[in-house]
Amino acid sequence: MKALKNYLMILMAGAALAADAKLNVVATTTDFGALAQAVGGDLVNVTVLAKATEDPHFVDAKPSYIVKLNRADVLIEGGAELEGGWLPPLLDGSRNPKLAAGQPGHIAISEGLAMLEVPAELDRSKGDLHAKGNPHFMTDPESARHAAKRIADGFMAVDPGHKDAFGKNLQTWLTLLDAKLLAWQKQLAPYAGRRIAAFHNSWPYFARRFGVKMDLFLEPKPGIPPSPAQLASVLEAMKRERIKVIIIEPYQSKHMASSVAQQTGATVLDFAQYPGGVKGTEGDYLALLDKLVTTLAAALAAK
Ligand SMILES: [Zn+2]
Repeated sequence: MKALKNYLMILMAGAALAADAKLNVVATTTDFGALAQAVGGDLVNVTVLAKATEDPHFVDAKPSYIVKLNRADVLIEGGAELEGGWLPPLLDGSRNPKLAAGQPGHIAISEGLAMLEVPAELDRSKGDLHAKGNPHFMTDPESARHAAKRIADGFMAVDPGHKDAFGKNLQTWLTLLDAKLLAWQKQLAPYAGRRIAAFHNSWPYFARRFGVKMDLFLEPKPGIPPSPAQLASVLEAMKRERIKVIIIEPYQSKHMASSVAQQTGATVLDFAQYPGGVKGTEGDYLALLDKLVTTLAAALAAK
């Protein structure tokens, strides 16, 4: 009898835990992780696979990621082949039906977004990494608005009991975003039309939002290392147009960017697409954009 009572108590404790259990959320990159945390609050446990300092196209896929995916209730990915080189085999290995394509637990942020640079025909020989259009859409805060809404919709579908809380968290975050976006546009308005060089073509969405041009790259094609011919043509354009800034991300060659900068009098600026990729922005998408806009405005203002 005592044994039965103990057994029932354990069962009840288990049931209570299930009712309170947090959603297990896995995000591919820290931008989606930050948004998932903002929308989910204390109702979610968020795990991010790629490090903020890792190239999203070439993430070091560890076996432990399969276990994380196996235990997840929700997966958030960019899609449009951003994670195409490493996520599909992990997802297959995880054998988690909740994360199957089309399930509410599988949130692909690129769905419903108008992509830039979609090639007229699929041809992997040119710019193989962006074969379905440019997947770096999260550099535009308006894409982050879309992402936060999609994440909230997904959480509500998977955990309808907490619909109100997710909705409230979403509204709070969108209000913060609206205020910030106005401030950022004001900060960069004086530099409309200015051209900025970059290592990889990660910034067309940011450029479109803020009215600058970021269309000169050290890489001849996305994922193809800079060639001497490409560097020579970038050098020439930078001198001719007096381009002042080259931006690089944590996993790109600062040495190469610095050598170009030295020959042209430009500044190398540490940029990142992912919260935590530059200091002081860990887990906070708005803090990251703040940092990018502020440092870019300062670099463009300098004589
Ligand atoms: Zn890319």
